[in-house]
Amino acid sequence: MALIVQKYGGTSVGDGERIRNVARRVVATRQAGHQVAVIVSAMSGETNALVALARELGGEEPNPREFDVLVSTGEQKTIALLAMAIQQLGQDARSFTGAQMGMVTDQAHGRARIHSIDAALIRSVLDAGGVAVIAGFQGVDEHGNITTLGRGGSDTSAVAVACALEADVCEIYTDVDGVFTTDPNLVPAARKLDRVSYEEMLEMASLGAKVLQIRSVKFAMRYGIPIHVRSSFHEGEGTWVVREEDVMERLVVSGVTYNRNEAKIRVLGVKDAPGIAATLFGPLSESGIIVDMIVQNLSQDGTTDMTFTVPRDDYPRALALMEANANAVGAARVEGDQDIAKVSVVGLGMKDHAGVAARMFQVLADDGINIQLITTSEIKISVVIQEKYAELAVRALHRAFVEQGAAEPVAES
Ligand code: ASP
Ligand code: MG
Repeated sequence: MALIVQKYGGTSVGDGERIRNVARRVVATRQAGHQVAVIVSAMSGETNALVALARELGGEEPNPREFDVLVSTGEQKTIALLAMAIQQLGQDARSFTGAQMGMVTDQAHGRARIHSIDAALIRSVLDAGGVAVIAGFQGVDEHGNITTLGRGGSDTSAVAVACALEADVCEIYTDVDGVFTTDPNLVPAARKLDRVSYEEMLEMASLGAKVLQIRSVKFAMRYGIPIHVRSSFHEGEGTWVVREEDVMERLVVSGVTYNRNEAKIRVLGVKDAPGIAATLFGPLSESGIIVDMIVQNLSQDGTTDMTFTVPRDDYPRALALMEANANAVGAARVEGDQDIAKVSVVGLGMKDHAGVAARMFQVLADDGINIQLITTSEIKISVVIQEKYAELAVRALHRAFVEQGAAEPVAES
């Protein structure tokens, strides 16, 4: 007997028939002798519709407390409906809102962080042979105000519940078969990964692969809970997200990702002196703008260039801040460019192989793609290129590193 936490996303509970389908799957798991806690999202489209309504009546920035009261209702519907559908199959089930299951968060409405979960109540339902059906995305602050965890937050709810229950696995059911080597819509030859490490998944999630909310992966990594990302439409195995030691096949490149949601800012001719970077980036962080890549050129004649990327939504603000700040750092000029894409290759095997970066640059050069910025980590190489080449770059890199066998073409260091 295992303790299994299952999470079903919006498309998996998108209509009555699909909810019934989920109920059958939950009951089958229960009948196989396992204890089951289920976390559900709102029906697909529901949260978007609620957000739109909030804007219609509450203005561009609706009152945060009331916003959360409203947008959390999508999940309250699906827990009740799923509990009913499970009961119709003759299986005991009971629904829980975030408040009812003691999911306590901080007070940051719309992006709340989880402080604690009271697992006792859920456990008592499971121990009595029932199924606990739990609302994702929502919690309460210490004063009992409803909070939400941010879009896609049900993944994090599910992993948090799995951690609190010390579950054997957190299964994330979705409308894709698992985690792929790249976007299958772009590259038909993309293949599903059997296993991927938390570290690789974190890189892929933050680089734009949309299957899992990043926070959920961090949570699972901290507590060592295996995540199994799989399809809710068939029984096949999906992708296991596990500890590095449990990844058998250390691929040099397990994923090729791209992100078109950044913009680049270049500050030219800044003084090369202590405190300049702090002066430049201080105002950005005070404005809550998250800077991604930062490259500082070697200085010449006591001045240097500083280039960095920010989310495209924050680009106008970031550019204005830099222009206002240019004098203070003695900058000659500020330039901006939104016409960029970040393309990355990620893989655990990079730790043991040399030559991946050189090969990546050669592949891009062969297609005449110019590289504007480069950053690396132990298991990732990212480049910024002109946006119109993003798809070409992803296809070429996937062909070279994944389709032609990632492990062979680079030399063992
Ligand atoms: N329903 C919420 C959303 O759409 C949470 C989730 O689905 O994970 O963001
Ligand atoms: Mg999701």
